[in-house]
Amino acid sequence: MIPYENLAKVNEPFHQEFENRFSRFLEKGWYILGEEVQRFEQQFADYIGVQYGIGVANGLDALVLSLTALDLPEHSEVIVPSNTYIASILAILRCGHIPVLVEPDIRTYNIDPAGIEAVITPATGAILVVHLYGKCCDMDPILNLASKHGLAVVEDCAQSHGARYKGRMAGTFGILSAFSFYPSKNLGALGDAGAVLTNNDPLKTELQMLRNYGSQKKYYNERIGYNSRLDELQAIFLQVKLAGLEQINRHKRKLAGLYLSQLKSDFILPVAEEGYEDVYHIFNIRHPERDRLRSYLLQNGIGTEIHYPVPPHRQNALKDLLQGAEFPISDQIHATTLSLPVSCCHSEADIERVIAVLNAF
Ligand SMILES: *Cc1c(COP(=O)(O)O)cnc(C)c1O
Repeated sequence: MIPYENLAKVNEPFHQEFENRFSRFLEKGWYILGEEVQRFEQQFADYIGVQYGIGVANGLDALVLSLTALDLPEHSEVIVPSNTYIASILAILRCGHIPVLVEPDIRTYNIDPAGIEAVITPATGAILVVHLYGKCCDMDPILNLASKHGLAVVEDCAQSHGARYKGRMAGTFGILSAFSFYPSKNLGALGDAGAVLTNNDPLKTELQMLRNYGSQKKYYNERIGYNSRLDELQAIFLQVKLAGLEQINRHKRKLAGLYLSQLKSDFILPVAEEGYEDVYHIFNIRHPERDRLRSYLLQNGIGTEIHYPVPPHRQNALKDLLQGAEFPISDQIHATTLSLPVSCCHSEADIERVIAVLNAF
């Protein structure tokens, strides 16, 4: 069996270092928001190339706190891709804003810059870009539009740790960028974790308060804050894994390269273009008979996933809110997409086998 993912195996090379650091952690007796969180925040910010990192409890909170810190007028419209993972949309709703969905480019699966300008209104406050599947959005036209219309750009980088666009890393384009370290992400903790990055001093301070009861000085509360803190333990695990992130991304890129060069043309492959360094959080193909293809692969001992089976506008939770809106490109992606094994738990031989089985379909 070639499973879609095996996180125990992905984390195995880090076990010794985890255990060493865990023993020191036990001796120390400091559990939440301490030196280890600060160290990880700085290391991760340095890696991405941004000044400040603020560790939070998970990726959804990183988005919610980012949008909260922006302090947009109530009921602002926030532009977001229609095929994103639901977290991006939930964050907008949790802040009392209005998600305005824009269709993706069918080639890149990322928000189509050409669709953005038409939905900008006086109520638009921000563009929440999502670098989906490990590929950066086409940022130049998006940044131009944002500056032309005075809009904030926030990045959802939950799937794009280390991805680059024209040499710049995901997380360096927006005023704020939100990361998730959910265990299956390219940089994954051993539990929930997230972070916001920014070069903006006042926003950094605001986020440090918001994640911790709106307080800077213990028992003195400046804001109506949240409890969304990062554990020292997760920060330790993340420091260890951050040192291996480039290696993880290189491995995923190598496996993706095998698919890209060897899969037959029946399958619609992700585009690999000049100027983009993708990190393949997900390697998806598309096929009109996706469900039959998926069962066929399973019968041949190959696990796959679907990211995602139901688009946000068809989720029961959002149906009423997005009443009647149509997103045919999202529908088409969700009906045909299939995510193939592309993890550090897979060898090149594993992927060669997946390719052979796929090419015999
Ligand atoms: C995983 C993910 C999130 C949410 O992260 P959590 O840590 O699970 O809260 C947000 N946006 C995208 C695009 C994601 O893939």
